[in-house]
Amino acid sequence: MSKQTKISFGETMLKTRNFYALKRVFSTQKANNPQICIVGAGPAGFYAAQHFVKKLGHAQIDIYERLPVPFGLVRFGVAPDHPDVKNVIHTFTKTAKNPNVRFIGNVNLGTDVSLEQLRKFYHVVVLAYGADENRTLNVKGETLANVIPARQIVGWYNGLPWNSDLNINLDGETAVIIGQGNVAIDVARILMTPIDELRKTDITSFALEQISRSKIKKFYLIGRRGPLQAAFTIKELREMLKLGGCSTVWRKEDFEGVAAHIPNLPRPKKRITELMLKSLEEQKPPSGKIFNPVFLRSPLEFRGNNKVEGVVLGVNELEGEDMLNRKAVLTKETENLKCDLGITSIGYKSVQADPTLPFDNSRGVVLNTNSRVDKGLYVAGWLGTGPVGVILTTMSNAFGVAEIVVNDIHKQKLDEVSKPGFEEAKKILDKKGVEAIDWFGWEKIDKCEVNEGKKVGKPREKIVDIRKMIQIAQS
Ligand code: FAD
Ligand code: NAP
Repeated sequence: MSKQTKISFGETMLKTRNFYALKRVFSTQKANNPQICIVGAGPAGFYAAQHFVKKLGHAQIDIYERLPVPFGLVRFGVAPDHPDVKNVIHTFTKTAKNPNVRFIGNVNLGTDVSLEQLRKFYHVVVLAYGADENRTLNVKGETLANVIPARQIVGWYNGLPWNSDLNINLDGETAVIIGQGNVAIDVARILMTPIDELRKTDITSFALEQISRSKIKKFYLIGRRGPLQAAFTIKELREMLKLGGCSTVWRKEDFEGVAAHIPNLPRPKKRITELMLKSLEEQKPPSGKIFNPVFLRSPLEFRGNNKVEGVVLGVNELEGEDMLNRKAVLTKETENLKCDLGITSIGYKSVQADPTLPFDNSRGVVLNTNSRVDKGLYVAGWLGTGPVGVILTTMSNAFGVAEIVVNDIHKQKLDEVSKPGFEEAKKILDKKGVEAIDWFGWEKIDKCEVNEGKKVGKPREKIVDIRKMIQIAQS
């Protein structure tokens, strides 16, 4: 094996003539350049890297990502009919192409490399691996066939490899979604959008095909609290109100006394409440598909034999003085709602990727104080904050965390001793036969997806087979 091959990252990088790649591969590290490792190539990882590039020009920043492809929930979460939101990818790409930044895809923290190893090789480790699981209701019948977490449906229509063979049945007329966050709205909208509109998006071909045959006519969006406490936001509600071939139907009784609170509401809440009341006021007999938000109901049980046939809902009352934070309390009253598909959308949850990581299992977050976990170890994004907030929220969190790191490097002299960085990590990956994918590998996958998409009038046709991704990246 030539010397070049030994020190280069991957075959693909050797073949490229890209200046930055060559600079990255052949440049010798100055003795104590800070070696920074980021785990997770989602918004938190990329925004943290962007800040390090800006503030620590001499640092080497390595972004490890479990998948061969970058961008986290921007690729696998953001709805396919929201292409503008995905424009942040251009900023991330610019960061990835900086000569001091290295993307190391297809490397999983916890199995391919341990936290202990990363901490040994790098001065700083920033964990930004997001929230991979979903919260569960823990009610009877939650594991019945066709009761599915929204997270899996999102992964299915967005091409997350492990959700590509999702067993979802859209042959019935009624779907019930538990939870009223923006994820629930996304899922309802994608399953209800006229199929010709979906065809123009980067939705997976198999989801498109199955949705085109969907018989779902009615969607219930079940919230345990009232309209004033609903988690969805105005833009997402507007989209539902305007959805072609679909009527939004409100229940008048859910809005009793709501109007009286409007003058005291903060502006965003005021605007969305006014919109709901206006829509209720203008409600006409529904035509086409029906989107039916229902408030003050908690799921007690999913019922069915071989598959879900209905959900038992407990009727709630609200308690507490603080109007926007009132709590739902069950009464003795219950209702039965028939359904053919049950979706749970009550939030995501992080996992403990490595056993040495201090982790709060009940909340699903890494234990941290203002992003600090231990000396040289930090958390950013949803992994540290919990699974709330849009990309902008994650951006300001990641910038803040990166700034704390920069200050700690200076004050605590974290880079006092020289560290090997990727040079040592690569030895471990090679020994384990892990086929790490570099940025050029991702660019090949990207090109291939875009080309395949063009053939059918889509922005891209996502590759969902990890093996195939690796083959293309290495070709
Ligand atoms: P993620 O985006 O989840 O990134 C984490 C990365 O870490 C992933 O790439 C993952 O593969 C990787 N990873 C996981 N485990 C490991 C491991 N063990 N080793 C290595 N890598 C690992 N916000 C908006 O502004 N607009 C929207 O339209 C919008 N839509 C959304 C739709 C959905 C369904 C969801 C769930 C969220 C949406 N958001 C939206 C919110 C936005 O996606 C988040 O704020 C943001 O993605 C959080 O970023 P993150 O980097 O913390 O996590
Ligand atoms: P979310 O906004 O926190 O909503 C979770 C929903 O589940 C709430 O309605 C919550 O009700 C309900 N819930 C929680 N536990 C429950 C239980 N035990 N029983 C019944 N209901 C329960 O979470 P999300 O929808 O997963 O979204 C996560 C973040 O991503 C949010 O910040 C969201 O804005 C963002 N996001 C943004 C977009 C977008 O910008 N288009 C799209 C998707 C996601 P309570 O309010 O009563 O707790």
